[in-house]
Parts: sequence; C-alpha cells; structure tokens
Amino acid sequence: DLFKEINDIYGHAFGDELLIETSKRLKSYVKGTDSVARISGDGFAILLNNIENDDVIKDIVTRVLVGFSKAFTIKNTVLHCTLSIGIVTFSSDKDDAGELMKKGETAMYNAKDSGRNSFSFFTQDMQNTARHQLNLKHQLRKTLKNRQLSVVYQPVVSVIKEEVNKFEALVRWSNNGEWVSPMEFIPIAEEFSLIIELGEFVLSEACIQLKKLKSQGFNDIVFNINRSIYEIPLNQSENDHWLTIIELHGLKPSDICFELTESALAPDKRNNEVLFNQLRAAGCTIALDDFGTGYSSLSYLRRIPVDYIKIDQSFIADMSTNHEDNIIVSAIIAMSKALGKKVVAEGVETSEQLKLLTELECDFIQGYYFSKPMVAEKLASYLTDFSYSHSLEN
Ligand code: C2E
Ligand code: CA
Ligand code: CA
Repeated sequence: DLFKEINDIYGHAFGDELLIETSKRLKSYVKGTDSVARISGDGFAILLNNIENDDVIKDIVTRVLVGFSKAFTIKNTVLHCTLSIGIVTFSSDKDDAGELMKKGETAMYNAKDSGRNSFSFFTQDMQNTARHQLNLKHQLRKTLKNRQLSVVYQPVVSVIKEEVNKFEALVRWSNNGEWVSPMEFIPIAEEFSLIIELGEFVLSEACIQLKKLKSQGFNDIVFNINRSIYEIPLNQSENDHWLTIIELHGLKPSDICFELTESALAPDKRNNEVLFNQLRAAGCTIALDDFGTGYSSLSYLRRIPVDYIKIDQSFIADMSTNHEDNIIVSAIIAMSKALGKKVVAEGVETSEQLKLLTELECDFIQGYYFSKPMVAEKLASYLTDFSYSHSLEN
C-alpha cells in the first residue's frame, strides 16, 4: 500500500530495500513448493498449490497481513507498511494464466478500495462492476472530448432578502440517451484523471451562461461551482488557472463561489491552503459543502477561511421528524453564525423544513421546494417570475 508515497518520501534506494525485505517476508510465510514472484513495481504474486478450501487460503493471508504489521527497519528508519491482497482460485478450466492474474488484480483493487491492509476474494460481481466502470470511463472520455456534457443550475434562495442571488452549477451527462448520475461518474472521472478536464468544462460553461445573465441585467448573481479535491493543483504555479478562466469570460472572481467538501480542506501535500487563500484574496468566495458528513475537523474551519457552510441534505431530510437531526442542524447554524459564516441548507423539499430553518435563522435555502436544477435558458425567466411569498403559498 502507498509504495509510491514511500518512494517519494524516502527515495528510491530505500524503496528498493523495502521491496527486497518484502519478498523475504513473503517467502517466509509459504511452503517451499509454493512460488513467490514480483510481478510489477510494487506488486507481488503468490502461487499456492494443493489448497483444499478457502479457509486454508484465509489462514495464510491472515498470517501475511499480521506478519506485515511488524515494522521494517531500513537504513535506521522504522517503517510500518501494509498490503492489499486479491485472491483468485483456479477452479475452472476456462481461465488461462492471464485471465487468472487479471481477476486477482480486480480483487486486489477491491481490497484497496475497502480501505487497504486487507484481502478480498474475487467475485464475478467485482468483474462486472470493473467492466462497467471501464466502459463508463471510455464513454466519458469521448463525451468530454466532444464537449457533450451539460450543466444545470439550481437556485439558492436568501431567506433574509427573500430573493435568489445564487445558483449552483451541476454537471449532467446523457450517455447515449441514458442519464448517468454525477454520483456515479464523478468518482470515475476522479479515478481516471478526467476530473480536471470535466471541472474546466463546467467552469467555462457556467461562466458563459453567467455572462449572458449579467448582460440581461441580473448583475448580482453568483454561480457556485463544485470542486473535487483531485482538481486542486499539485503545483502552486497552476493556482491561477481557475481565476484565468473566470477572467477570460469577462467575469470577476467575486462572481464565482467554489464549493468544496471537508476532505478538500484536510492538510495534504496538495497546496489547498495556499490556493484557497489566493482565491479569496482575488475575490472568490468559498463554501464548505456537505457539512457534517466528512471526517470533520473543526480546526479546518479555523485554518481555511470559508464564507459559507452548506448543511448536508441528509440532516435536513429528517429534521422535522428526527429530534437529533434537528439539534444538529440548529447547532451547525448557531456555530456558523458565531464564526461569522453564512449557512445554506441543502435538499429542502417541504414547507415544514423551510419553516423550521427560518425559525433557526438559516441564511439560504436550496432544494426542490423552490426548484429543481434547470437548464441555462430558463434562468432569466425564473429570476423575473420569482416571488418568495408566492413560493410559500404553493
Ligand atoms: P452536491 O454538491 O451536494 O449537489 C447537490 C445535489 O443534491 C445535486 O445532485 C442536486 O440535484 C441534489 N438536490 C438538490 N436539491 C435537492 C432536494 O431537494 N432533494 C434531493 N433529494 N436532492 C436535491 P446531483 O446533481 O445529482 O449531484 C450530485 C453530486 O455530484 C453533487 O452533490 C456534487 O458532489 C457532484 N457534482 C455535481 N456536479 C459537479 C461538478 O461539476 N463537479 C464536481 N466536482 N462535482 C459535481
Ligand atoms: Ca455542491
Ligand atoms: Ca452538497
């Protein structure tokens, strides 16, 4: 696990040494009739012969994992290192060696995805999922190249001003006529390094539409753009990129608010802190998305300046029936206000929720209660026709 990081931190000579020690250890857990091989940079394979059942494999694999919990000492450095293990049994005469290795790899990635330092047996389901994802990746790459994604916009309503002053841009993908949810393809875009291109497309497209809206007289509208942690440049020299796109479209940084989840605020080798400070200094605002669902650390709030806190819709959904959720929502609102941040409630669907949130003095409301996300062509008439009190009556 994370061999690349170890190499980056301690250097290649150290990494080589660790590989040698790893093979020695692996060999000590198997019989002389079994084989241990290094099959890629940081990949090893063990071939076990004459295995009666899966329990025997489990025993061996557990021995390996437990064995690796003992630290390595290399060049006077003590290092803990874990493994992710994929297991496939040769039980049918259909598989050849290549097919078997591929299945083992699929199972290994499954173990990695379930948090590393563990093992997974190959299942057909895993392969189907892997194939489906690979297929989506190919389609998504094509769609991006042809700029065939689209963007819809959901209003964010100010409770105090009783007006709409923001829209959140949300990407949409129709894959050969079938809508794929962003919940499904954003992780694929992240995994296969398509997210940067996707994010640039959404930002450019949103800028074009916002510019149009402003030219129609809606000068104070701000667009919120979602950003995944994988879009944060590794290199500080690329920090200006988003600002460049905004300015290229004749907009000001203050016209755009970037929405980031808590994980994007975590200390990381990516230069997130520097980036957010630069964006804010330029005039952009920052919203903390899905608040309360990530590995929250309130210290991020102190370290990284955010302007808005968006309460995750899972808390809003049950706040009228679940007492705990109600308390959490009111606590988040109170805390945000005390810290001088504005609060947005997401996923507001009922007048009951709106009433509770208004009583708690939540600043902004977003959700199907006011409107589903809509295509850009509808924004101007939506703004013209919008009436807060009328929305309440319906
Ligand atoms: P999110 O940022 O939390 O966006 C809000 C999601 O809640 C959207 O789902 C929106 O359509 C949905 N929603 C809004 N109001 C309601 C409501 O009243 N009830 C319910 N049940 N749902 C509501 P969507 O569009 O499917 O997007 C899902 C997620 O995908 C987003 O969650 C965001 O994390 C990600 N995403 C969407 N567009 C982009 C993008 O351009 N870039 C990146 N990096 N991520 C994006
Ligand atoms: Ca969002
Ligand atoms: Ca959200």
